Amino acid sequence: MNAILKNFIAGEWVDGSGVTRNINPSNTNDVVGEYAKADKAQTEKAIAAAKAAFPAWSRSTPQERYDALNKISAEILSRKEELGRLLAREEGKTLPEGIGEVARAGQIFAFFAGEALRLTGEKGASVRPGLDVEITREAVGVVGMITPWNFPIAIPAWKIAPALCYGNTVVFKPAELVPGSAHALSEIIARSGLPAGVFNLVVGSGSVVGQTLIDHPDVAAISFTGSVGTGRKIAQACVLSNPMKKFQLEMGGKNPLVVLDDADLKVAVEAATNGAYFSTGQRCTASSRFIVTEGIHDKFVAAMTERLKGLVVDDAVKQGTHIGPVVDGNQLEQDQRYLKIAQDEGAKLTWGGELLNRETPGFYMQPALFTEASNTMRIAREEVFGPVACVIRAKTYDEALAIANDTEFGLAAGVCTSSLKYASHFKRNSEAGMVMVNLPTAGVDYHVPFGGRKGSSYGAREQGSYAREFYTTVKTAYTFPV
Ligand code: NAD
Repeated sequence: MNAILKNFIAGEWVDGSGVTRNINPSNTNDVVGEYAKADKAQTEKAIAAAKAAFPAWSRSTPQERYDALNKISAEILSRKEELGRLLAREEGKTLPEGIGEVARAGQIFAFFAGEALRLTGEKGASVRPGLDVEITREAVGVVGMITPWNFPIAIPAWKIAPALCYGNTVVFKPAELVPGSAHALSEIIARSGLPAGVFNLVVGSGSVVGQTLIDHPDVAAISFTGSVGTGRKIAQACVLSNPMKKFQLEMGGKNPLVVLDDADLKVAVEAATNGAYFSTGQRCTASSRFIVTEGIHDKFVAAMTERLKGLVVDDAVKQGTHIGPVVDGNQLEQDQRYLKIAQDEGAKLTWGGELLNRETPGFYMQPALFTEASNTMRIAREEVFGPVACVIRAKTYDEALAIANDTEFGLAAGVCTSSLKYASHFKRNSEAGMVMVNLPTAGVDYHVPFGGRKGSSYGAREQGSYAREFYTTVKTAYTFPV
C-alpha cells in the first residue's frame, strides 16, 4: 500500500485526523489508495487560508490567471491516459470514458484561461447629466465546492476553473467515494504556482467537511452538484447563514428520450443505448424514460433488446468493456431495489437486471430495460442512477411531449425524429434546460451553458461564459467628475 495521501491547506500537504480508503468497484480486493480525512478544525483552517489569500488573488492580473489555468490544462492533457486509468479504477467508468473525462477537464481549464482575458466592464451613460456610470464584475470571495462521485474530475474542473479565472479562492470537498481523482487533480493545481491558500483540498464526509463549509460565515458561495436531498439541505443552510451565501445547485434528472414513428431506428437505438447505459447509467443527464410512439414501439423494443444483448459488462479498464461496474454496493442495492419496485408496479422486465460474475469480485449488473411502463410508476418518476431505463408508449407526438414534461425534474430531454416540424416544436416546448435532437440526452459541450430547470437545478448556469454569473458579483459605480 502506498503512503496516505494528504489534504492541501494553505499551500501545504497536511495529515488529517483519520483515514479513508477507496475500493475499485471492478475488483473489491483492490484498494485504490488511502487518504487523510479532514475534520472540522482542518476545514476551518482551509477556509481561513482561502480567506487570507482572497484579497491578493482577486487583484491578480488576468495574465497571472491565464498562465496558471493554462499550466493546469497542459498537465492534465499530457497525463490524460494515466489519470483516466485512475478514474476508471476508482469510479468504474470504462477506460475510454475515463480518458475522455480527463481530456474534458483539460479543455475546461484552457477555456477559462482564455476567459480570464475576456472579463471586461462596461461604461454606461447616466440618466443624470454630468455623471459617469460603470458596471464591473468582482470576484465573490471564498467558494466552497461540494461535488459528487460520478464525474470526479470533470465536475470539479468546471467549478474550480471558473472560480480561479474570476479571482475567487477555493475550498474543494470531493465525494467520499472518489478521493483519488480529486487528489490527482489537486496535485496538478498545487503545482501550477498559485499563491498559498488560493486552492485548498479537504477530503471528508458531507456531514463534517461539507456541513462546515455551508455553515461557515467566511465562505461566500457554495457550488454544489449532487442529489436533490442534499441540495435542499444546502439551500436552506445558505439562506439561513449569516451573512447569506450565494449558491448554485446541480441535481438529479429523470430525462426523457422521445422516439417518434419517423425516427431513424438505428440513430434512436444508439442515442438510447448511449444515453441510458453508458457510464453505467450513472449520469445526471442519463436517459431513463424512453417515450415511444405506437408505430415504432415494437421495432424499437426489439432493436434495443438486441443492442443490449451485445454489450459487454466487465472490468472498467479491460479492453472491449462497454459498461463498467456500478460504483459501489449501496448503489447496486438501490438499482436492484428499483427492479423489484418496477415489477411490483406492473412494468415488464424485458431484458437484463441480473448480477454478473466476472474474473474479479465487483458490482456488475446487466443493463435493464423495462417495457409496459407508465409515467406514474416510480421507475418513471424517481432517479435510479444506474443502468436502468423504461419504455412508455405514447399514441401521438403531443402525448409524448406531455409525458416528457410530466416530471419534477428538467435537466435534459431528447427527441428522435426526421421531421423538422417535430424537432423545432420539441426544442421550443420541452421543459428541460438542455434539449437534444437525434442525440443521447447525455453528452454536452464545455463552452456553452450546462444546467436544468425545476427540481434539477437552482441558481446560475455552469460552464461556458455563463459561469461568470455565479463566480462574479456585479458592482455599479457612479462618478461625478469634479
Ligand atoms: P450526494 O448528494 O450524496 O453527495 C454529493 C456531495 O454532497 C458529496 O460530496 C457529499 O459528501 C456532499 N454532502 C452530503 N451531505 C452533505 C451535507 N449535509 N452538507 C454538505 N455536503 C454534503 O450525491 P452523490 O451520490 O455523490 O451523486 C449523485 C447525485 O448527483 C445524483 O442525484 C445525480 O443526478 C447528481 N448529479 C447531478 C449533476 C448535474 O450537473 N445536475 C451531475 C452529476 C451528478
